[in-house]
Amino acid sequence: MFKFPKGGDLHNHLDGAIYAENFIAWGAMDGKCIDLQTYHILMPPCDAELARPALKDIQNNADIVNRIIDALSVRNYERRPVSGHNQFFSTFRRFFPAGIGHEGHMLAEVTTRAAKQNIVYLELMQSWGMTEARELAKNDKAFEIETSFDDLLANSAVKQLVTATISNLDKIEQQWREKLSCETAQAKSGCDVPVRYLAQVIRVFPRDQVLAQTLLAFKLIEQDPRIVGLNFVAPEDNPVALRDYHWQMQMIGELADLIPVAKKGITLHAGELTMGLVPPEDLGWHIREAIEIAGARRIGHGIDVTYDSESLQLMQAMAKEKVMVEINLTSNDVILGVKNQNHPFPAYRKYGVPMAFSTDDEGVSRIDLSHEYQRAVETYDLGYEELKMYSRNALSYSFLAGRDD
Ligand SMILES: [Zn+2]
Repeated sequence: MFKFPKGGDLHNHLDGAIYAENFIAWGAMDGKCIDLQTYHILMPPCDAELARPALKDIQNNADIVNRIIDALSVRNYERRPVSGHNQFFSTFRRFFPAGIGHEGHMLAEVTTRAAKQNIVYLELMQSWGMTEARELAKNDKAFEIETSFDDLLANSAVKQLVTATISNLDKIEQQWREKLSCETAQAKSGCDVPVRYLAQVIRVFPRDQVLAQTLLAFKLIEQDPRIVGLNFVAPEDNPVALRDYHWQMQMIGELADLIPVAKKGITLHAGELTMGLVPPEDLGWHIREAIEIAGARRIGHGIDVTYDSESLQLMQAMAKEKVMVEINLTSNDVILGVKNQNHPFPAYRKYGVPMAFSTDDEGVSRIDLSHEYQRAVETYDLGYEELKMYSRNALSYSFLAGRDD
């Protein structure tokens, strides 16, 4: 399965793709610290007496390192009193500080792993510029939702942020290329994996901040061909995400009408929900709204599709309109406890909805895309021809394919 040609990975969060071992190494190199009570990696100064030692001082202590790896991933999560859902989402704030300044190294890790597995394209989600976009909204009343979207698209602070984010991306790619000695005789295999990006909007913040992030995302797609689409991320069951879901779909749809090139690059995490995780009233309509209101061309996860009151019609429409579902089997098992015949994969398959396998967060989940293909074959008894079709989908439904430039 390792060598089977896998097309692309279209649902891959760059920070969640990094294995904890690299975060620990980068933190040690940079003089960062580890809080041994919460297992958050922290910026210096460190203080061993307050249980905040420098990572470089503990990186050869196997006991401590093992505990850190467990805390920064879902490794051994079954043995802990915390749910897979909570453990999964809690890892991101623990490792986030370790990645600062190493974004190009992250690309090196992920492209190297992809090349080894015969993955020929990556569409990586990242939030570069999004913290700054939220700051813009906090400091400028124009982002309150009464302002017209046309005015906001012409906002000079947004334009400046777009320029700064693009030049930051240049630097990140330069770090990646240098790390892998690209453009030299010693170029490593990761140099040859084409990478494009999806701007990820973090959807659990106040509306003006989500709007500012979305404006940045759309303008990045418009101005830089490396950024081919956007996604909305963070737990869909978060109270703000649930409260604002309908508004967020409307906002995306209205902005997309103003920026036609970006309209082709909308993929949304939708329906990553199950009975019990949220009230029944929140089940069975997010996928439909993502497609019909926001104009999503792809759906991430799509787990609650069978709760839609017209689920058969919805799946037939997805098949007809070629709306693809990004299938993340391990992530769905860990976060939602949904697997095997309880997963909607067999239903989507039955009604001919296009699908492709993806990793979601291969570092946090301690997997890779080969593992996901293997899991799919074993769980759903897929034949070679069908597997090839999913692999092809992961290229033909990429947003690179949809662009003219
Ligand atoms: Zn995801």
